[in-house]
Amino acid sequence: MQRGNTIEDQSISITVDIEDWYHVPSVCGSPYSEFRDTVDFFSKWKDRYDYLTGPTMRTLDILDRFDVRATFFVVGEVVEHYPGLVEAISARGHEIACHSLRHPCIINPRTKEPAMDPEVFKAATLLAKRMLEKASGKKVIGYRAPNALISGWMIDALEEIDFEYDSSVNVNSFFHKTGSPVDDVTTIPYYPRRSSLSVGEKRGIVEFPWARFEAGVKIPAYGGPILRFLGSSIIL
Ligand SMILES: [Zn+2]
Repeated sequence: MQRGNTIEDQSISITVDIEDWYHVPSVCGSPYSEFRDTVDFFSKWKDRYDYLTGPTMRTLDILDRFDVRATFFVVGEVVEHYPGLVEAISARGHEIACHSLRHPCIINPRTKEPAMDPEVFKAATLLAKRMLEKASGKKVIGYRAPNALISGWMIDALEEIDFEYDSSVNVNSFFHKTGSPVDDVTTIPYYPRRSSLSVGEKRGIVEFPWARFEAGVKIPAYGGPILRFLGSSIIL
């Protein structure tokens, strides 16, 4: 129930991905991107690149107005390129979680094969975790895969480097990003089977699958593009 500017007697879970325009696959970090990765991008790009700070601060103000705390999945290199931003998000009471080091496609979106060696993935993700922990002053336990390209071997690796949850699996009737079977996945948190995204037994890492709207077909109910195409009625 909403009363005035506060939400009472109701729980709400909000996550925000903190990434910039050049993190999209057509610009950096995919087999078809303009720049090999964001290191390549920053070595060549001479114009303004910060379209992130202003909208993030406005988002923090909106969350404050409704007295809501959210989880922010932050690309690790944001700590380097936007000094003080992660500190500001954390200082206002929000959880800082990890959205990779530089937002590459870890699964090849075309072939669905790994686009990164598992040991390289683990090292880069652990570095991002440490950077975010240093900036926020808090332990980082959550992960979200760039472009939602997730696979079972990634969940296994995340567990090994001390993540406690992942939130990347999205099930809908229109697209399937990784090729791993997810027919038994609902919108309820679950423990994935090892080397799989299917539902398994209790283990050290839990998956929080994304929201969906059921209307005969499973419609994605998350994220900016879906909100822009379908409006807020299925998101809220
Ligand atoms: Zn992202």
